[in-house]
Amino acid sequence: MDHRFQDQQYRLSDFQQEVAVICPVCTKKATAKADYEAQTVRLICTHCGHHREVSNCLTTFGIRAHYRTAAHVYLDLPLWYETSFKNEVFWAYNEAHLLYLEQYIGAKLREHKDRTYFTVLEKLPKFYHDSKNRDALLKIISKLKNKK
Ligand SMILES: [Zn+2]
Repeated sequence: MDHRFQDQQYRLSDFQQEVAVICPVCTKKATAKADYEAQTVRLICTHCGHHREVSNCLTTFGIRAHYRTAAHVYLDLPLWYETSFKNEVFWAYNEAHLLYLEQYIGAKLREHKDRTYFTVLEKLPKFYHDSKNRDALLKIISKLKNKK
């Protein structure tokens, strides 16, 4: 098995447009999808059929504007892939993000291209990088992957 990990230099913004959230109606997994061009954010639950659409307007520091942030923020919904780990919170925006973290945490050898200080991996809290947390984190990830 190849444990080398090639950092694909993802940024959080690469994952934020489609976010897995907890459906406010049936509490199952729903999807929040932001369309920054159309300035709308759509919530779709395939389990119960709940859906709604909001604008991507947010008020920050008293200024109302179209901000580009993670899709669930506009809907004010909790993330589906989120769980506590020790005194920290482990989370991922969506399955692709979760799998990316799994790949990173599971890798024994890590390669980084030129550091930009903006990628997902470089922004992670310290506990993600701590090799003594590896097994526990992988367990959490596998639990989240099978969450229903
Ligand atoms: Zn639902």
